[in-house]
Amino acid sequence: MKLPITGGCLCRKVTYQITAEPIGAGNCHCRTCQKSVGTAYLAVLFVPYSALKIRGKHTEFATHSASGNTVYRGFCPVCGSMLFGRNSGNDKIRPVSAATLDDPRIYQPHMDFWVSDAQPWDYMDPDLPKFAENPLHL
Ligand SMILES: [Zn+2]
Ligand SMILES: [Zn+2]
Repeated sequence: MKLPITGGCLCRKVTYQITAEPIGAGNCHCRTCQKSVGTAYLAVLFVPYSALKIRGKHTEFATHSASGNTVYRGFCPVCGSMLFGRNSGNDKIRPVSAATLDDPRIYQPHMDFWVSDAQPWDYMDPDLPKFAENPLHL
């Protein structure tokens, strides 16, 4: 992938750069992602923690993951776009919402996870590996 990868929220008050190759990419079908993004799943890139450079002031909302960690979802306080997150149990990886990339076409998911929470109207690529929960244990 060409670096840096850039992205931002709907109103462009919060933008970011990813300065290293993503570690992974997948579609999260968990219930909290559904609520948070308002649709069937969150398309997410996993990037090295220090590779995410954020510009502009974002707000975080905390929830608890199945493993008991605190998951912080970072969103723009002006337009509400959910951009990236962090997890109290993992200081190596940060999830970034693939749909907020400036060029979202570069996103190539290699798995579906939390399919145990998926809605019956959620169509998934049958060729991608499926995981009931998160294989990265975030
Ligand atoms: Zn915004
Ligand atoms: Zn999720």
